[in-house]
Amino acid sequence: ALSAKFRERLEPNREKCPPHVLQVIEEELTKLQLLEASSSEFNVTRNYLDWLTVLPWGNYSDENFDVIRAQTILDEDHYGLTDVKERILEFIAVGKLRGTSQGKIICLSGPPGVGKTSIGRSIARALNRKFFRFSVGGLSDVAEIKGHRRTYIGAMPGKMVQCLKNVGTANPLVLIDEIDKLGRGHAGDPASALLELLDPEQNANFLDHYLDVPIDLSKVLFVCTANVVDNIPNPLLDRMEVIAIAGYITDEKMHIARDYLEKTAQEACGVKPEQVEVTDAALLGLIENYCREAGVRNLQKHIEKIYRKVCSASLFVMKKNFSVTMIALRLVREGSSNESIISGKVVQPTEVDETDQHAAENETAVEVESVENSSHELKSESSVQTTDQSKDSKDATETETLEETETSKAVEKVLVDPSNLADFVGKPVFHAERIYDQTPVGVVMGLAWTAMGGSTLYIETTLVEKGEGKGALHVTGQLGDVMKESAQIAHTLARAILLEKEPDNPFFANTKLHLHVPAGATPKDGPSAGCTMITSMLSLAMEKPVKKDLAMTGEVTLTGKILPIGGVKEKTIAARRSEVKTIIFPSANKRDYDELAPNVREGLDVHFVDDYSQIFNLAL
Ligand code: ADP
Repeated sequence: ALSAKFRERLEPNREKCPPHVLQVIEEELTKLQLLEASSSEFNVTRNYLDWLTVLPWGNYSDENFDVIRAQTILDEDHYGLTDVKERILEFIAVGKLRGTSQGKIICLSGPPGVGKTSIGRSIARALNRKFFRFSVGGLSDVAEIKGHRRTYIGAMPGKMVQCLKNVGTANPLVLIDEIDKLGRGHAGDPASALLELLDPEQNANFLDHYLDVPIDLSKVLFVCTANVVDNIPNPLLDRMEVIAIAGYITDEKMHIARDYLEKTAQEACGVKPEQVEVTDAALLGLIENYCREAGVRNLQKHIEKIYRKVCSASLFVMKKNFSVTMIALRLVREGSSNESIISGKVVQPTEVDETDQHAAENETAVEVESVENSSHELKSESSVQTTDQSKDSKDATETETLEETETSKAVEKVLVDPSNLADFVGKPVFHAERIYDQTPVGVVMGLAWTAMGGSTLYIETTLVEKGEGKGALHVTGQLGDVMKESAQIAHTLARAILLEKEPDNPFFANTKLHLHVPAGATPKDGPSAGCTMITSMLSLAMEKPVKKDLAMTGEVTLTGKILPIGGVKEKTIAARRSEVKTIIFPSANKRDYDELAPNVREGLDVHFVDDYSQIFNLAL
């Protein structure tokens, strides 16, 4: 009976199933019939057959190379990202010409929450492929990719075979997440297993240890995501086409929030658009005071939180037949959170329902445990006890009239504005990004590029000992070797420059300095803070603060030449976030800067320099 079941399952695919697989299946079926049903080998064979027959052999979804449709889909799902979308459309157009989208592997790189995964999903939708995602972050066991040998107890095939079973087609789009965080294997190297998977030369005959018959993965489209491209093993990186997504400026986040995040949050909570209004000012406050990251994931969470609160409030409304207005009024007037509305004087816990008539008098005495609890109960009830409504509403109107007098100027919907924003999402989190309004002597703002996107950081230099200091330099702030060396270079160079500008100033010769880069707990490295360090030291030596709202980045050589840096877009976005007005970049980065969208560059005063003397003139 079992064999018949397997045969039946295979039937629709039998034609397309490769002969070598059919042969193995037949052999295993014969074997199954000879085995004792209670033996362990029977089990192994049965499981094996189960996998072999369930895979979508030769079953493809029709790929769609319609570029116009793809553009519509990409625009539908994502705001902005013009260059990214363009690259993807190019990719699809090339696929159309060649008749296949194989060959190049797209790698989307950028900080968390900028939409890498959701772009992957959109590409799948545009191409009419099934979507499957798995993360290789921290993966150290090759068996996760290649499967276990069948002889192991509890053996399983690898991720790719599981994927094929899951999607039911042999040409899905597979998103491999966090490829830059691939672990180091103790037995076997996951990177080379992945390489085997991704390499078009090899993956037409991919051999999973469990399956033990080669499977054809050459029709699978792989897309990878990474935070930092530098951490991707080189052989893998060689095969990829990297598309970088830098992050969003406030203006872009506003659009994303309005046109995308709010809509999904509304749908998820079942709140109608006309029931809630989050004002522009509230949204701006949310972006600037709560969600200062490069991506929008945190923003999404906060917006969802707002809608959840509104939603739980309106569930309460449903039950009580209150108008949303009441809740809105209460929110506006009392400036109180939903918890207090619901657990406060108006609501009665559900068990009191039978004794509704007493409840009206007893209102104040009753407490509800939590919003979640009460709203769940309310929900389940509102679907069952529709007959209760009239009684309830009568009850509600009673309470309402109590309030009515003072709140008669009606507000139509729940209004979320800066004054009550904190009721929905709590107090703003403290951000240390801009710790000085006007930087004091010895402090200069630099720009850094991290896995989380761009950020601003301060370089601080103070004086430890004057006179007897013998020109020493002490460095703190979890700096890596490269950054420590660049502090040394900066020290040497600052001394030379001071000698030239103020020949009589013996500051560097006899003073011990301490250079620190907050935040002290975050490890930092790289040469791009070179020019910032020199400026910080010179500012201290000459007792002159640098120009207000200025940030700079650039590697410096011992002779004062300024070398290019990475992450121009990320750094520019970070500078804007910290309200920087003037930025100094290396000349060699001018091209990168000119490529940025006009709205990212807007309102910034940017200088490109190739020698430190120019920075000196601009900053001090
Ligand atoms: P990542 O994979 O880069 O960490 P996600 O793809 O998970 O980020 O994105 C987080 C959320 O932000 C998703 O819900 C996504 O739809 C949304 N999002 C990101 N960028 C955009 C954008 N440009 N337009 C609309 N929504 C976006």
